[in-house]
Amino acid sequence: MGGIVIIGAGECGTRAAFALREAGYSGPVTLVGSEPHVPYERPPLSKPVDGAVQLKAICSAQALEASRVDYLQGVSASRLNAQERTVTLGDGRTLPYEKLLLATGARTRPLTCPGAQYALSFRTYADAAAIFSRAGDGRRVAIIGGGLIGMELAAVLRNKGVAVSIIEAAPAPLGRAVPARFAARLHARHSGEGVQFHLGQGVAEITDCAVHLADGTVVPAELVVAAIGVQPDVALAEQAGLSIGNGVLVDDLLCTSAADIFAAGDCAAVRQPGGGHLRFESWRNARNQAETAARNMAGGSEAFLAVPWFWSDQYELGLQVAGLPAPTHQTVLRGRDDGEVEFYLEDGQLVAAAGLGIGNAVAKDIKLAEMLIAAGVRVDAAALADPDFNLKTLLKNARAA
Ligand code: FAD
Ligand code: NAP
Repeated sequence: MGGIVIIGAGECGTRAAFALREAGYSGPVTLVGSEPHVPYERPPLSKPVDGAVQLKAICSAQALEASRVDYLQGVSASRLNAQERTVTLGDGRTLPYEKLLLATGARTRPLTCPGAQYALSFRTYADAAAIFSRAGDGRRVAIIGGGLIGMELAAVLRNKGVAVSIIEAAPAPLGRAVPARFAARLHARHSGEGVQFHLGQGVAEITDCAVHLADGTVVPAELVVAAIGVQPDVALAEQAGLSIGNGVLVDDLLCTSAADIFAAGDCAAVRQPGGGHLRFESWRNARNQAETAARNMAGGSEAFLAVPWFWSDQYELGLQVAGLPAPTHQTVLRGRDDGEVEFYLEDGQLVAAAGLGIGNAVAKDIKLAEMLIAAGVRVDAAALADPDFNLKTLLKNARAA
């Protein structure tokens, strides 16, 4: 036996299993997942329709079977031996492997204040089910962390009429991943919807009916949710002696420091051409890296080059960000009736773009911007700013050149 073993049955591990077959790999594929469900999507957990959380499967058990993927459901890998090429499972079994993919994702960052046990975390279907079954019936909800998940949860709860407070350590919400212009617009929108913000605030203590802030403010809450970010799950890699930084360190082919062990998705930090490593926590990144890793495990030699991209839905607004916007970039704004897009340039070259609009309004511009970023071309700022100018023309010109 042996074949390819994938640890982690989230977006990345599951996509990798199918991508191995698409790449023509015909040997045994084993997918080990610690959660007790068929593999499921995380993004819908914080965007439930009518406030009722659904488990949206990535694939059915039949699809796994049809692709000859042996899915070990509800089983954790507890030990990795890179010399002997074996993985030991929590139930005592040992699996030999020829190649292995670490797709262990991330875990919620733990709160450390007194009373932290009163706060629910938000990563899994079980977490979402616990939160949405308790929110309502007049309970006030305090969300600690004004990041993507905290803000999405607040929008869903306000739509249900639930009283929501957000406690954020930074001076403004969404500061980590969202460009300042759109973070400010989303902040204003939430305030307009009645979300109470407590910014630049640490948490001193949580009790069964309130969150006590460091400045003495008491935020009444019968339900507290912690959404303070995640940490890459590097436990197996670390124990096996692989190189670790902010994630499992991999080269541009997604190979770790150990022979025939790859890593991808939220757990992996990928070596960058300019130096350093980048770990990017997003749904599409997990899928793209899964596909590259699968092709490389099947014998390919493909560098991972995809432009980072993520989206967020809050109220009726859709946010999309491509590339890595930075405050040092030159910005160009493109206004539209139903939203706006901001482009980020470095030495005349388009390196990132972000947009916020009604529903999917900005999707087409961001898709074209992504292609321009990937093409690595210099662009005319005036053309970007003109909403009547079709960005496809810039792409055609770039291709012709
Ligand atoms: P994970 O999804 O974390 O999967 C890893 C899996 O491995 C887990 O099931 C874990 O239990 C399992 N595992 C770990 N260790 C072991 C082990 N030793 N043995 C067996 N199994 C193990 N991204 C976006 O771009 N847009 C969004 O709108 C968006 N919304 C989100 C909403 C929520 C509520 C959450 C939590 C995330 C959201 N994300 C979103 C982020 C996106 O879902 C993640 O980036 C993506 O799921 C990462 O996939 P992954 O497979 O790398 O990791
Ligand atoms: P996040 O986006 O990293 O935001 C966490 C926020 O909590 C940050 O602003 C952080 O501030 C703040 N914080 C940290 N410790 C705190 C404390 N003790 N008290 C108050 N605030 C505190 O993480 P997240 O919202 O929890 O999201 C989790 C994962 O989902 C991430 O991987 C995220 O990228 C991913 N994701 C979600 C979506 C989505 O929901 N649409 C989209 C893409 C990806 P500092 O930055 O100052 O630490």
